[in-house]
Amino acid sequence: MKVHEYQAKEIFSRYEIPVERHVLCNTPDEAVKAFRQLGTDRVAIKAQVLTGGRGKTGGVKLANSEELVRQHAQEILNMTIKGFPVTRILVSEAVEIAAEYYVSFAIDRNARSVVLIISAAGGIDIEEVARKTPEKITRYLIDPLIGLPKYLAQRFAFALFEQPEQAKRMTSILQDLYKAFMESDASLTEINPLVLTTQGTLLAIDAKMVFDDNALYRHPDIHALFELTPEEELEATAKERGFSYVRMDGNIGCMVNGAGLAMTTMDMIKLYGGSPANFLDIGGSSNPVKVIEAMKLLLNDSKVKAVFINIFGGITRCDDVAIGLIQAFDQLQTEIPIIVRLTGTNENIGRKLLKDSNRFQVAETMNEATLMAVKSVKGEIL
Ligand code: GDP
Ligand code: MN
Repeated sequence: MKVHEYQAKEIFSRYEIPVERHVLCNTPDEAVKAFRQLGTDRVAIKAQVLTGGRGKTGGVKLANSEELVRQHAQEILNMTIKGFPVTRILVSEAVEIAAEYYVSFAIDRNARSVVLIISAAGGIDIEEVARKTPEKITRYLIDPLIGLPKYLAQRFAFALFEQPEQAKRMTSILQDLYKAFMESDASLTEINPLVLTTQGTLLAIDAKMVFDDNALYRHPDIHALFELTPEEELEATAKERGFSYVRMDGNIGCMVNGAGLAMTTMDMIKLYGGSPANFLDIGGSSNPVKVIEAMKLLLNDSKVKAVFINIFGGITRCDDVAIGLIQAFDQLQTEIPIIVRLTGTNENIGRKLLKDSNRFQVAETMNEATLMAVKSVKGEIL
């Protein structure tokens, strides 16, 4: 489970890891108020979303006047970063940065131990550093029986800082961060960047914590911070309506009765070189109300360029299913191609009804239908 930067910083503060002064805000007005309250020349305004890379997407901005604070706060609050709409921002005292470092504790599964990862090349390009110049990143495995006593922390700290005063500060930060990691059953605690300010102090200006889901029962205070991602929210809404829905990256929306058939449909789409936009099991019924609900769910996803409806009429008769689909699509406003494969009891009558409605591309077999769906998103004429 992930938490927001401001929540991680609250935990950091409890462990005496130095963070800059900050105020959580929900509106531009609150941001301006926070700017006044902090009383500094400059503030950093940062989107609070459960994903990284905010700096690169414009989710972190500096401002040195009330007008700019208001403007940037408004801009950031209007953003959606990697699928996460921004509803909260952190307004923090901007710091003068002399250098940016990277520090984290994570789990190294192969080594079956905690690993400390540090680098003098911290900041928004750490992934790039890891790829191009991995020698700039150092990893130290932590023996669980020894942990991180001062002599070890000191050794690691001196690897980054020559100045005794800074190394001393770093030693405390390492020990405190390790303690926070262990005591909260985290799988990651990360400071990127840990900054050396021009005044020579060390500050965690970003904070990330991920917790082991299986240990959350031991930490009700952390568990209480749990938030559904927009994706999970969508899936939960679908579940309330009796569907089993999982969104994916492709562009062929699938609407299928039965989980096994839904899986097969997705496999077939892949086999023919296409890509499913979702898994959707609408269950046994062909009730038009349900079909409309399911279609709305599918069409809500702007990636969907065609819909493949794959129905096996076992107990439900295919003519009933066809009537249901026709009624549903009478009420839906959509231009995208709808491919239907219908098989089972009364399938001939069902298919004829669908064909006569001129709204659907109708297929008899899975192969035929899948090919139609894949071709239609590739813009080919059938
Ligand atoms: P991330 O991109 O989501 O990891 O967001 P960060 O909080 O790490 O911010 C990204 C970058 O913005 C940092 O690496 C800094 O270079 C810059 N930044 C953030 N806060 C400040 C600040 O207070 N002062 C200055 N000068 N730069 C900042
Ligand atoms: Mn960061």
